[in-house]
Amino acid sequence: MIDLHTHTNKSDGTDSPRELVNKAISLGINVLGITDHDTTSGWEEAAQTVRGEINLALGSEISCLTDDGVSVHMLGLLFDGKDEAMATMLEETRDGRLPRMRKMVEKMRAAGIDISMDDVEAARPIGATLGRPHLADAMVNKGIIKSRDEAFQGMLNNDSVFYVSHAAPTPVQAIAMIRSAGGVAVIAHPFASHRGQILKASDFHELVSAGLNGIEVDHRDQNPDERRMLREIALELDLVITGSSDYHGSGKLNSLGEYKTAPLQWEKLESQANQRRVVRA
Ligand code: AMP
Ligand code: ZN
Ligand code: FE
Ligand code: FE
Repeated sequence: MIDLHTHTNKSDGTDSPRELVNKAISLGINVLGITDHDTTSGWEEAAQTVRGEINLALGSEISCLTDDGVSVHMLGLLFDGKDEAMATMLEETRDGRLPRMRKMVEKMRAAGIDISMDDVEAARPIGATLGRPHLADAMVNKGIIKSRDEAFQGMLNNDSVFYVSHAAPTPVQAIAMIRSAGGVAVIAHPFASHRGQILKASDFHELVSAGLNGIEVDHRDQNPDERRMLREIALELDLVITGSSDYHGSGKLNSLGEYKTAPLQWEKLESQANQRRVVRA
């Protein structure tokens, strides 16, 4: 079983990297992608936990913004964790998340919602990439809402009046950065329309020119029609097709391994990295 997109408490998941790897082993996952938002800080602990048959595809889910302001998530897998340009890009994006959160909190306070930056910081695990799920957790802790899911269906949705974007590379810049660091780039849930504005089918050509390797087709946020369209685009552009859970521990309904990548697709993807970087025991 191959699941290439998961999160730990180094971003907005709730399992530590060790717990995640252990869960993956007990489920019989052979290849696990660990893709925390805009960080590689979980890699070391995950690598230290590896035993038995499991292979780790270490990576990151890079927050991107198109020139038209569309939010895009780009999975970078198997890149060189020591690449300086990549580390700088990730750090800048993480840095931009703090003023963004301050603005969101400010908007909510102006609307009479009793929430503060201290509440958000209290909900964020040490060293985790700051994100809306931590704001959601702070609101749950204060009894304002019941769950992260409730937050994302309302106040924290991309279409909400409280939403603020943060500085981020464009998808083309992120792909170029991932590839020059030797890794492979897979666009995450590109047609997850309920999150807000999404890419158009015609946008993929530019991404392929930049070096895009694959498309995440099977993902719970994409309906059968959206998956069918993406599968067609992938076949037409000779891109790898992936499926993954986007597991976030108890922070989201997604369960580990709920969507999978076919072994042949994984082999094709891995062969496009500039060297073998899978971590195994
Ligand atoms: P941010 O990166 O701060 O813009 O926050 C986006 C994150 O919120 C994404 O990583 C999603 O995984 C997470 N998210 C989106 N929808 C939900 C939901 N319904 N429940 C929990 N987390 C969600
Ligand atoms: Zn997330
Ligand atoms: Fe995502
Ligand atoms: Fe994700």
